[in-house]
Amino acid sequence: MNKIQTARLEELKNSFKGTILIPSDDAYESARKIWNATIDRHPAIIARCATTSDVVLAINFARDNGLLLAVRGGGHNIAGNAVCDDGIVIDLSQMKAARVEPEARRVTIEGGATLADLDAATQAHGLATPIGINSTTGIAGLTLGGGFGWLSRKFGMTIDNLESAEVVTAAGKVVHTSATENPDLFWALRGGSGNFGVVTHFEFRLHPVGPEVLSGLIVYPISEGKRVLQQYREFIAKAPEELSVWIVLRQAPPLPFLPAEFHGKKAIVLALVYAGDPKQGEPFIEPLRKFGTLAGEHIGVQPYTAWQKTFDPLLAPGARNYWKSHNFSSLEDGLFDIVIEYVEKLPSPQSEIFFGALGGATTRPAPESAAYAHRDAMFVMNFHGRWEDPADDERCIRWAREFFKASAPFASGGVYVNFLTADESVRVRAAYGPNYDRLARVKRKYDPANLFRMNQNIEPAGRKAPVQLRGEVSPSR
Ligand SMILES: Cc1cc2nc3c(=O)[nH]c(=O)nc-3n(C[C@H](O)[C@H](O)[C@H](O)COP(=O)(O)OP(=O)(O)OC[C@H]3O[C@@H](n4cnc5c(N)ncnc54)[C@H](O)[C@@H]3O)c2cc1C
Repeated sequence: MNKIQTARLEELKNSFKGTILIPSDDAYESARKIWNATIDRHPAIIARCATTSDVVLAINFARDNGLLLAVRGGGHNIAGNAVCDDGIVIDLSQMKAARVEPEARRVTIEGGATLADLDAATQAHGLATPIGINSTTGIAGLTLGGGFGWLSRKFGMTIDNLESAEVVTAAGKVVHTSATENPDLFWALRGGSGNFGVVTHFEFRLHPVGPEVLSGLIVYPISEGKRVLQQYREFIAKAPEELSVWIVLRQAPPLPFLPAEFHGKKAIVLALVYAGDPKQGEPFIEPLRKFGTLAGEHIGVQPYTAWQKTFDPLLAPGARNYWKSHNFSSLEDGLFDIVIEYVEKLPSPQSEIFFGALGGATTRPAPESAAYAHRDAMFVMNFHGRWEDPADDERCIRWAREFFKASAPFASGGVYVNFLTADESVRVRAAYGPNYDRLARVKRKYDPANLFRMNQNIEPAGRKAPVQLRGEVSPSR
């Protein structure tokens, strides 16, 4: 930072209600870390905002000083866009307050909240909105990409439940947006990622859920893998929308309900939740127990908030991660053969393959009704390369890339923007699909100079090649 910027930073500190961190501060080291440990960046400033007015100050500071700007919600994104080198990070992690209106079935929550914060507030009233499956994920990044989880077949994507938002734009203006106020921005926020401003508040519609739900795991040995996948495909096509069943293929952890002989062995796991009356759900899940010879099961009625944390221990922050992802509109036998082949080659004990099931309410809106276009996606398959030692980087990344290539012929061609890695800028258009050009026009209106570019970036329509800022890496293709 030059002298002028240092003097301006002092000015910023004087008006800022939150905390400004620079590299010499004790809290800086932990503040610059994010979920994916392969991302190791050193911003010049971390602006830990306490209020919307802090966000305005930080945006104005970044813009007026020509600094690269990153925005951190939950810091979970695999691509690592929540943090930059040299520039400024707007860190919302202290802005987590939630206000529930139980009668109106609405919640308003700040932009730094996690999924756990949202569930805790809404479940106190027996209400919920569809969000993701790992409770430490940020509500902001998840929503801005689309958002889906266990409740989505019944209640839609997270964005389908977004009622309004408060956004600070690149001009430092606080804008309210909904279907009737600034509708172009509202359309773009629902799937256009962090391209249009910093969202300081989200308002969601809520639904009665739980507070206890029928949920749990059914585990088969991998020798049953292909048969289980084939039966799953038939089963999920007819399952009620209240029932979500996802598939995980990995080494079985030493779960107490699994006989010791299965610990550490490859397994196929059905993870399920019934988002209705548990008694009504029981008969629907019975066929899942008859797909083959069970290794074990752990199914019961438990608090929805506990179920929402089931996968947290397997997806804790701090490991090295490289993921790849495909959308599918149907699942073919040829894909199953490749899946089984690559489960056999899993490069580390933590690596896994996930099938998330969409369908139902996620497919009903028209693809152009919001920026998220993938209403044809019935399944999202993720290959989670996950490991601890940097010496394993090359091997684990290679596994994910090879698997991605081998399975591509069976995929729909679309991809969920929130699962793109840092080296996939070539897939950004596929992620926004047919909505890209309209998004670029909205981008030109709200962020003509592309201040918000640490994301799966949408170039403002008609803009010439941008000047590269300090700390910025050219997109790799
Ligand atoms: C373990 C794991 C499990 C996951 N499971 C699911 C799942 O079940 N369903 C699902 O839909 N997704 C899932 N995801 C993907 C997840 O939705 C994305 O990683 C999402 O971007 C995380 O949001 P975040 O706020 O934590 O991330 P961050 O890294 O903080 O931000 C992600 C992007 O959004 C921008 N951003 C963050 N906050 C704001 C804000 N307030 N205003 C404007 N822009 C902002 C950032 O600049 C960045 O570009 C999962 C990810 C992980 C790592």
